Amino acid sequence: MAEWRADACEGVTQLVGDQASAWDLAGVLPTETLRALGKQGLLCAEVPVEYGGIGADSSDNGAFTAHVGSLCSSLRSVMTSQGMAAWTIRRLGDARQRQEYLPRLTGGELAAVAFSERDAGSDVTAMATEIRADGDTVVVDGRKAWTTVARYADSIVVFGRYGDAGAAVVVPADAPGVTIRPVPNPSGCRAAGHADVSLDAVRLPASAVLGGGGQQLQLLVTTALAYGRISVAWGCVGILRACLSAAGSHARTRRQFGRPLAEHQLVARHLAELMAAEQAATRVCEHASRCWDAGSPEMVIATVLAKYVGSTEAARGAAAAVQVLASAGAQDGHVVARAYRDAKLMELIEGSTEICQLILAQHAVAQSR
Ligand SMILES: Cc1cc2nc3c(=O)[nH]c(=O)nc-3n(C[C@H](O)[C@H](O)[C@H](O)COP(=O)(O)OP(=O)(O)OC[C@H]3O[C@@H](n4cnc5c(N)ncnc54)[C@H](O)[C@@H]3O)c2cc1C
Repeated sequence: MAEWRADACEGVTQLVGDQASAWDLAGVLPTETLRALGKQGLLCAEVPVEYGGIGADSSDNGAFTAHVGSLCSSLRSVMTSQGMAAWTIRRLGDARQRQEYLPRLTGGELAAVAFSERDAGSDVTAMATEIRADGDTVVVDGRKAWTTVARYADSIVVFGRYGDAGAAVVVPADAPGVTIRPVPNPSGCRAAGHADVSLDAVRLPASAVLGGGGQQLQLLVTTALAYGRISVAWGCVGILRACLSAAGSHARTRRQFGRPLAEHQLVARHLAELMAAEQAATRVCEHASRCWDAGSPEMVIATVLAKYVGSTEAARGAAAAVQVLASAGAQDGHVVARAYRDAKLMELIEGSTEICQLILAQHAVAQSR
């Protein structure tokens, strides 16, 4: 294990302590905690050292993400967004933009990524946000929906139409014309700072357009989503670990009909399935991260598979954990109740379960003889 990871896991465990449920119930994370983690480079650990980052590989950052996911999915969501913003800047930005923006993301500033709109969810190509060149400036107009972290963010990477093509632009959250409205009462990851973002004639220097823009919109969004998917997948491994631990310990100690729950075979089956789910999700994530670290072309499909397996297993596993704990886990504030709500939302985002199935099926057909 990389040295930074052992220290980071220990540090974040102490930082979160027993506060995750309270953050979830209050629907807010302490920004000083986020900035403290951000300044250590831990919210986007894969950013190279030359930009103030840790330079972690995907395997190590994935294992760290799973650890954070086992503690608090809202905090893990912040890591996913920050990492996705950094990845997008690394992939789409030029050398000057990488130098300008990445040290901010490893220096305590927080970033969100906005592609979804009310009428452009699974179908991102339907987005209406417009990024229009005007001399040496660009003007951004649009309405983004459900942007994670937007409530806390210093900047937002916004995707939009750019003439006949697409572009991603780095928008300061306090730029004139930007309005951020928190999504009221999200059912899961409640403290992750989800917000709708309105952009009304937001004027920025043309240099804020990553790589100058003009690439195919779907390709641009897919670049950002690839990072989001693997990060969410590892976060789901963490949810499964938290559920397995809570369900295992409850089944060992709670007695009914004169013996521990774990000795009732139908309860034991839930535990076996949870363990299998945690192992399966871990293995597909490890495989995907190895593909990222090797720069393998298989990385794209391995990442979709990891996201699909991780999120579906987490949703099923969290439901099984609630079943094992029954009334003991049926209250907000309990780790399995939180996991149940958080895990379900993981099936909706970064390409829903159905969108992942379509991609996997297309791949299977293309590979068939
Ligand atoms: C917790 C959370 C965090 C989010 N964070 C962000 C963020 O940071 N940035 C951002 O830009 N967006 C974010 N989103 C928005 C998210 O990306 C969208 O919710 C997601 O893309 C799905 O879009 P939709 O909700 O409009 O559902 P829809 O696209 O309307 O889909 C509804 C249902 O139909 C299914 N469906 C749609 N099309 C097909 C098809 N062709 N075949 C089969 N089934 C289909 C979907 O799988 C789904 O089950 C977030 C959403 C949530 C809930």
